[in-house]
Amino acid sequence: MKCPFCGCEDSRVIDSRSVEEGASIRRRRECPRCGRRFTTYEKYEQIPLLVIKRDGRREMFDSKKILAGLLRAFEKRPFTYEQI
Ligand SMILES: [Zn+2]
Repeated sequence: MKCPFCGCEDSRVIDSRSVEEGASIRRRRECPRCGRRFTTYEKYEQIPLLVIKRDGRREMFDSKKILAGLLRAFEKRPFTYEQI
C-alpha cells in the first residue's frame, strides 16, 4: 500500500491483528523510504441491500426512508422522537 506521507509505492507490514470480533484486520505499516508508520484496515466489501418494491422495481435500501416512514406513522401520536 502506498505511503500517505511521501507517496512511496511500497510499505512493509509490521503488525497485523484481528479487530471487531474478526470482521476486520488492522495492519500497522512502515514506509521503507521515509520510515513513517500508518494503519490500514481490511474489511469485507459491503454488499448493497436491495428492496423489491410492490411493482417489482428494485432500489437500494435506504435507512433514511425507514425513519421517514416511522416519523410519518407516529406524526399525530403522543410519542417523542427518542421513543420512536
Ligand atoms: Zn513514505
